[in-house]
Amino acid sequence: MTPELMESGARAREAHEARLAPQGSSGGSASFGRRLGTEPDFAHGVALYLDDITVSFDGFKALNRLSLAIDVGELRCIIGPNGAGKTTMMDVITGKTRPDAGRLSFGSNIDLLRLREPEIVQAGIGRKFQKPTVYEELSVFENLELALAADRRARAALWSRLSGVQLDRIAEVLQLIHLLPQAQRTAGLLSHGQKQWLEIGMLLVQDPKLLLLDEPVAGMTDDETERTAELFLSLEGRHSLVVVEHDMKFVAQLTEGRKKVTVLHEGAVLAEGRLGDVQANEQVIEVYLGR
Ligand code: ADP
Ligand code: MG
Repeated sequence: MTPELMESGARAREAHEARLAPQGSSGGSASFGRRLGTEPDFAHGVALYLDDITVSFDGFKALNRLSLAIDVGELRCIIGPNGAGKTTMMDVITGKTRPDAGRLSFGSNIDLLRLREPEIVQAGIGRKFQKPTVYEELSVFENLELALAADRRARAALWSRLSGVQLDRIAEVLQLIHLLPQAQRTAGLLSHGQKQWLEIGMLLVQDPKLLLLDEPVAGMTDDETERTAELFLSLEGRHSLVVVEHDMKFVAQLTEGRKKVTVLHEGAVLAEGRLGDVQANEQVIEVYLGR
């Protein structure tokens, strides 16, 4: 890619991020901001800790004293009926919504409630929204290149050639997201599922420590859904993942019959445990049937 194209791509990305930024946010580009001094301390094995978090919208409690802990390297599925507060929980973790009360820490040392949205990204928390937001007119490779260049550790790549290490990282991610054969393809020509993978890849090149995925397989074919589960399983351990999803077959594939699932209801944890156990739980059955 030429420097001119990289530069215009960077401008496109900044404009794009400005459009995506919530009203009133002064954060600007999430990825070109200053460096965060502190790294999360994972020595205690906990990646993310929500404690007694409450979020009210005009008196209505979207989150009601929610407490939850995600271990380092854990893949945690969160299920629950519509309106349970799942997306609001992700909004709080990423700094988009500020809670009325509670504590929120990344590792044992980083108080996320003191950080702004771009600082939370820099601390190593990546979020995948439901709708894919790739640069349709650029190739798959160029999309990943831009995402990498947006990383604080790789900003220099914008103005120079990619280093071997960076190319290796892009190649590694292309493999992971099953798009190596499509690397030179225009992103706009990909299937819906492939665009979703590309967007996950754009998060992965930045090597986030924690990935938040809100309904990642919505609109995917069965085959794409299955391959997405395989992708997430391959990420487990290296990253911590929080996956919100309604598709129970997908959740079953991810949990492999043993992992912990959290059921959210009315802004709090209703049940937690193995998928089979929570699905047999009377209260859980009631909230799902009561929909
Ligand atoms: P879920 O993702 O589990 O379906 P949400 O977190 O989107 O649930 O929503 C939880 C509840 O909070 C819903 O009743 C929703 O209408 C309400 N809610 C979410 N965001 C807002 C907002 N910005 N203003 C008012 N109510 C909101
Ligand atoms: Mg939601």
